[in-house]
Amino acid sequence: MRLDVVTIFPEYLEPLNVSLVGKARARGQLDVRVHDLRAWTYDRHHTVDDTPYGGGPGMVMKPEPWGEALDEIIASGRSASDAGPWDGTSSEVADSGDADQTNLPTLVVPTPSGRPFTQELAAELATKRWLVFTPARYEGIDRRVIEEYGERTELHEVSIGDYVLAGGEAPVLVIVEAVARLLPGVLGNAQSHRDDSFAPGSMSDLLEGPVYTKPPEWRGRGIPEVLLSGHHERIARWRRDQALLRTRSHRPDLIERCDPDTLDRHDLAT
Ligand code: SAM
Repeated sequence: MRLDVVTIFPEYLEPLNVSLVGKARARGQLDVRVHDLRAWTYDRHHTVDDTPYGGGPGMVMKPEPWGEALDEIIASGRSASDAGPWDGTSSEVADSGDADQTNLPTLVVPTPSGRPFTQELAAELATKRWLVFTPARYEGIDRRVIEEYGERTELHEVSIGDYVLAGGEAPVLVIVEAVARLLPGVLGNAQSHRDDSFAPGSMSDLLEGPVYTKPPEWRGRGIPEVLLSGHHERIARWRRDQALLRTRSHRPDLIERCDPDTLDRHDLAT
């Protein structure tokens, strides 16, 4: 998978060099390219923002640098036969109807007013060939940029939670990590994400329950006997009960949304 990030703080994306994502890059599973938005500014101060139309506090990111940056990045992904500057017509996308069937990326625009980022959306993004992220600063990006590229390629406005950060770089780190660990071969054991909270499967829509490791006693605290039993069915039952109890206590909304068909007789007793 190719990932491009356009930002005014390229150094903020340095964590993409370490741990799971860093290793995936080193193995060639991820091609990550971080771009400085100011490279597409031409004044002495490399200005990327201006005052908002209609007045009000804060600044808004100017459309021109974003437009040039995105055009150039999108053009870089086109096949040799197709190469050349993007001519600004929308026919390519209108004809294809699917960004993945062309050489167009899927744009991910972090914004508190976006669609909530969930494990489901992470799984959807993990199926894409190429993601381009546009983390903003100030009051966000001039709306016309989102409209322009939303008409030309697949675009998701994504929120990582109901709070406002100073910029979109931290959301990019969050989204990239959640997506990368779902890519085939990135996690050592593919089973690990199948049992995660929110993962589709046996624990569908539930939070994961508590986990334990050695030693068997720590500061006078033992571990639940059932985990030592070696009885796989009982352990699976216990894990599911714990997941249900935890979900009911921390996220009752998830239980309410649970498909009743995924619950069994024993769940109802929990
Ligand atoms: N005025 C904007 C609003 O109220 O929706 C907030 C702008 S915020 C200060 C600057 C940038 O940080 C946003 O454009 C976005 O890129 C990023 N950002 C902040 N909070 C975010 C969140 N919860 N999810 C995703 N991106 C966020």
